[in-house]
Amino acid sequence: MGERGILTVVSGFSGAGKGTVMKEIMERYGNYALSVSATTRKPRPGEEEGREYFFKTAEEFEKMIAKEELIEYARYVDNYYGTPKAYVEEQLEAGKDVILEIEIQGALKVKEKFPQTLLLFITPPTARELRNRLKGRGTETEDVINGRMKRAGEEACGMDQYDYLIVNDVLSECVEQVHQIIQGEHRRSYRNQAFIERMKEELKGE
Ligand code: ADP
Ligand code: 5GP
Repeated sequence: MGERGILTVVSGFSGAGKGTVMKEIMERYGNYALSVSATTRKPRPGEEEGREYFFKTAEEFEKMIAKEELIEYARYVDNYYGTPKAYVEEQLEAGKDVILEIEIQGALKVKEKFPQTLLLFITPPTARELRNRLKGRGTETEDVINGRMKRAGEEACGMDQYDYLIVNDVLSECVEQVHQIIQGEHRRSYRNQAFIERMKEELKGE
């Protein structure tokens, strides 16, 4: 049996560049699987069912909650968002490093359920740059942007609960850092107990 994959949660203010970083990391490296969440929010232009999200009605979403099909879910600016359980389990079992791109309440719930989860927080270098990116994305109204900036202020209080803080200034450097941190995590001794046991056994025979 190969090594089980690592579960990583990536959070960060809306507009920090999480989606952009995830897209790049999937293109650059082979061993990652990105979980696709369910949400009741409406698709943005260019988003596709099953690629960015599984788009659900509130009723459908509540059914998924009742049937315990979600690892976690949260409400974020008037919508539900949640992580389907089956895909994550399957991919971890197959040895893939699974990344969940979810907000902070969900991140902390996942960590509580699975304490070995790696928590990464991605932030732009400044608040001004965050607003610029939200504006530049051009997918939200001024009102929604103000709502997301306000929410960012609240989320900043949770930043120090994450294992690592990564500044997304130069995109390629941010992607490389995320990859390095996850690879480093694989080398933790507590994640390599089977190796340690085998080595001990082999050395007994020498
Ligand atoms: P999130 O998924 O965190 O909400 P996005 O990935 O949609 O954020 O990025 C928000 C906007 O910022 C997009 O227009 C994206 O192209 C831009 N962006 C992402 N990373 C960077 C970066 N390192 N430098 C400049 N702009 C960026
Ligand atoms: P957006 O509407 O910009 O795509 O996402 C809004 C927020 O919801 C982001 O912070 C994103 O990370 C978070 N999010 C996306 N999917 C999930 C999920 O499955 N669970 C939780 N808790 N948050 C999610």
